[in-house]
Formats: sequence, C-alpha cells, structure tokens
Amino acid sequence: MNFIEEIVEKDLQEGKNDKRIQTRFPPEPNGYLHIGHVKAICMDFGIAEKYNGVCNLRFDDTNPVKEDVEYVDSITNDIAWLGFKWGKIFYASDYFDQLYELAIRFIKEGKAYVDEQSAEQIAEQKGTPTEAGQNSPFRDRPIEENLRLFQAMQNGEIEDGKMVLRAKIDMSNPNMHFRDPIMYRIITTHAHHRTGRKWNVYPMYDFAHGQSDYFEGVTHSICTLEFVVHRPLYDWFIDQFADAEPCLSPWGKGYRPHQYEFNRLNITYTVMSKRKMLQLVKEGLVAGWDDPRMPTVCGLRRRGYTAQSIRSFIDKIGYTKVEGMIDLGLLEHTIREELKETAPRVCAIFDPVKLVITNWDNAADRETIVAENIDGKPELGTRPMTFGKELWIERADFQEEADKNFYRLSPMGREVRLKSAYIIQAIGCEKDKDGNITTVYATYDPNSKSGTEGGNRKTKATINWVEVNTAVDAEVRLYDRLFAVENPSAEERDFRELLNPDSLKVISAKVEASLANAKKQDHFQFLKQGYFVVDDDSTPEHLIFNRTVSQKDNWQKK
Ligand code: ATP
Ligand code: MG
Repeated sequence: MNFIEEIVEKDLQEGKNDKRIQTRFPPEPNGYLHIGHVKAICMDFGIAEKYNGVCNLRFDDTNPVKEDVEYVDSITNDIAWLGFKWGKIFYASDYFDQLYELAIRFIKEGKAYVDEQSAEQIAEQKGTPTEAGQNSPFRDRPIEENLRLFQAMQNGEIEDGKMVLRAKIDMSNPNMHFRDPIMYRIITTHAHHRTGRKWNVYPMYDFAHGQSDYFEGVTHSICTLEFVVHRPLYDWFIDQFADAEPCLSPWGKGYRPHQYEFNRLNITYTVMSKRKMLQLVKEGLVAGWDDPRMPTVCGLRRRGYTAQSIRSFIDKIGYTKVEGMIDLGLLEHTIREELKETAPRVCAIFDPVKLVITNWDNAADRETIVAENIDGKPELGTRPMTFGKELWIERADFQEEADKNFYRLSPMGREVRLKSAYIIQAIGCEKDKDGNITTVYATYDPNSKSGTEGGNRKTKATINWVEVNTAVDAEVRLYDRLFAVENPSAEERDFRELLNPDSLKVISAKVEASLANAKKQDHFQFLKQGYFVVDDDSTPEHLIFNRTVSQKDNWQKK
C-alpha cells in the first residue's frame, strides 16, 4: 500500500466527503504522454479503481499557444491502450465562464487587480525567498477601474503582455507563490482548440487547477512534488469563496478538494519533458512522437513494450516523497521478463553466410520440421520450419581456424546442433578473392533429428539457421538508448548534443518463413539476438522488426 492509499483509507474510515473518492488525471494537451505521465495515471486511476471511486480525465487546456486536438486524441488513445477507464472527460476550458465570473468576484471583493507592468518589472518586484517583494504601483487602483480594465482585456482592446490580472495577497509572504500571483493573462495570437476566438484572457494554472477540481468535486487531487509549494495557494483560492453564498459546489459547503504530492518519474538515458521531446520531434532528431526511442507511451508501444509491462514497471518503482532517478535497465528487465514467457522463439540471421549440407542428396528435397514456439511449453504452439540442403547461418557461428574455446562450427570436427533440427559437422569452406568466407560446407547426421530418439544426443553448441529458398528478407531496426549520458538534463551541454549516435542501426536479415505472416505488434524472441516486435509500417512485402530489448543486459558490461 502506498502512502496516498493510506491517506485515502484513513479518509474513508473517517467518513470524509461522504466516503466519496474522486480523482482526476489532468494533462495539458501540449504534447504526447510519456512514461512519467503513466506513473501519475496509475496513481489517479488506481486509487479510483481500488476504492470504488471515479477518475475523470481533465484536459488542462488554458494555453492556446501550445495546445492542439492532435494531443487530446493521442492522450485518450494512450490511456485506453494502457487499459484504464475514465469516468467523464472534462476540459478546463469548460470552466472559462465560471472562472471569469469568479475573477470578477475577486476584483469586487478587492482581492484582485489589473497590473499594467511588464513581465520583467513584475519579476523584479518579486523579491527573493529571504527578501520581501515590492507592491506594484497599480495594486491599489479602484475596484471600478479594475473591473473596466479586466473587461477591456477580455474585449480584445489591450495588447498581449500589456496587462495581467493579479491576486492581491501579500508581497512579503515567505511563500513566493503568495506574492500577488497572476490569475489571468491576455492571449490574442492563437485561437483556442475548443473555444476558438471567444476568449482573449486565459486563466493561469494556479487559478484554474484548484477551481476546476472544486467545480468537479475532486476529493483527492494528486500531483507531483513540484506542486507542494503551490498547495497553500491552491487552498487559499478555494477558501475565498467556498463558504460564501451561493455555494459553487454541488457537494455543499463542507466540501474541499485536497492536493497530495508524490515523486516524479525520471529514467536514465532519456528526458522526461514534453518541451524537450517536442524539440526532438520538430528538429527531426527522432522520427516522431512515436519513434521507438522516445519515452512516450506511443513510442514505447512501437518499441514493443506492452501495456502490462509498463504498468508492472510502475508498480515496481512505487511512490515516495523524494525525487530520484530510475535505471532504464529496470524497465528493460520488466519487458524481458514478460516476453521470455510469451514471445515465440524464432530464427533470424543478421549476418548470413551460406551453409551447404553435402550429404543431403537431392537439393530439391525439403523437409518440414515442427518447432515448438517455446521449448518445453507445448501449450504455446508450434510452427513449421523448412529444412533443406542450403541454409543461412550466422557468420560468427563459423571459424575456419577455431581455438579450443570455440564450440560452434569449425572444420575441427566438433558436432553442433542446428536449432530444432539435425546435428552437423563442418568440413570446410570457400572464400572469395579477398578471403571472405562465402560458403561453409558440412555433413549432417540423419539420425540426430530433434524430437526423435537420436535427438537427445548432446552437443556443446546449438546454432540458428533458416532455409535459403524459403527464408524471407526483413528490415531489422536495432534500437538502443536515445542518449549517451545517464542524465542529459543535468549536463551543462544542450541535451540535443548528448544524443547517442548509435541509437538506431538498420540491417537486413534473413528470417524464417513463418514470420511472413507476422502481424503488427506481434512479439518474437529472435534467438540469441533479443526481443523484437513487428513495426507499424511493416507489410507482408516489406517486413520490419524493431528491437524492443536485447536478450541480456549487455549495456552494463560496455
Ligand atoms: P512535462 O514537464 O513533461 O511537460 P507536465 O507536468 O507539464 O509534464 P502535465 O500534462 O501538466 O505535464 O501533467 C499531467 C500530470 O502528469 C500532472 O499531474 C503531472 O504531475 C504528472 N506528471 C508529469 N510528468 C510526470 C513525471 N515525470 N512523473 C510523474 N508524474 C508526472
Ligand atoms: Mg504541466
């Protein structure tokens, strides 16, 4: 049980909010969801699921400059893909009228004023945590004037940046967020994706968020630790009107939403910020938001991560009140553990060299071998593999002059098993004029077939193969970590200079014929290579596989 669940259980025992549990997930639709958001999603939806409550989805769409429906659509798709169900979909923009009314009420009560200073001047007067700020010269203007100017701001009569509405609280409060925070700013340059040109003023996060929670009846407003310092202001705004008449909440006067905070997710070798991800996408440094190297939900999905694996990763890391950094290796471990149990194990040859079986009499003869998808797990099915005189094997599996520690193919007479098939012995090879091996020759033992009595004979090594005539060509995208350094955000250099130059290598491989029928999002273990998924752009004519993760964690060793 995490510490927020403990709070919820205590609230339920005490009968708070008539034992109603309501959470929300509040993304700003200014980018795609990343795995950090999933941590928040698992918390918000998880609490609602566990305690028979409801979790609504609320788009925090208060800045038309950066927001777009494209992002709204991707966010809903990603949450559904993760397997969560929201109650209702809300938008902060649903409350623009109510928030505007509320702002006018603040002005009328002498709790807000229109400031005509520039952003720089306002910043200069802010003070420091140990030094009080200064009052704006516009702080004490008459209420009537404030009302008139705020209306002029909304009417489009004032240029962007020329005026803001500020709460009149306390310029010497030790909490900097209380030093007359901005409630509204003017934005006329962009239409809003839902309200179009109706508004020329837009509420700031601090004024919009808590009030939206209040209007909706949120009981537990859960967010990340950077909002701890905003919490007193969150409460202050609500306190200004919650006990007044008429009550703005359908839940009556006693009701208050409460904010709780947990630690953000940060993962090594990546960035966890929509702003930085947007830069990578816009500058073409990755192929898009769903580039398999991106830590976005759609990128992870395309990389071959399952919703289950991402959710169990979040379960493993848990929730605390201290910021930290999670090793990317843990995420990789989680998907490896899952795919080890479920992904069919197939042969794909990355650097092929031809193997000819000299005692296979008729080159036109083929044999169908039935291979188990996962050895020893017949319930996961079997597939046919075609065997014949000419096979592709991995170039590295043959050495002409092998030392005694090399157990794979060499003309020294060692027996090697071809996976799920026969035992062979190499007898020699052919080279081109540059000395590159073009063909390996071997003999096979017809009485050594896997699954028959002779199949029990042990060899020191097993190698992978695909039959030359039936093998299929496939594009294989070998993805690796996006950044070359552990924490790109902590470096002095610009994060874009820290990208891993080897984060993608594309090769052409020979894969077994059964993979011709592979469908998008099918997962496989390519024996000895790692785990792969069929890419979204793959077609039967042009197969594409993405490496999800290598077979073992070999990054540590590098
Ligand atoms: P970014 O900094 O990437 O733009 P954000 O916090 O501005 O992220 P929002 O869309 O405002 O993104 O976030 C929606 C919710 O997701 C918030 O409650 C926020 O606290 C949470 N969240 C965002 N990033 C993380 C993270 N790395 N770990 C945990 N929760 C996160
Ligand atoms: Mg945000």
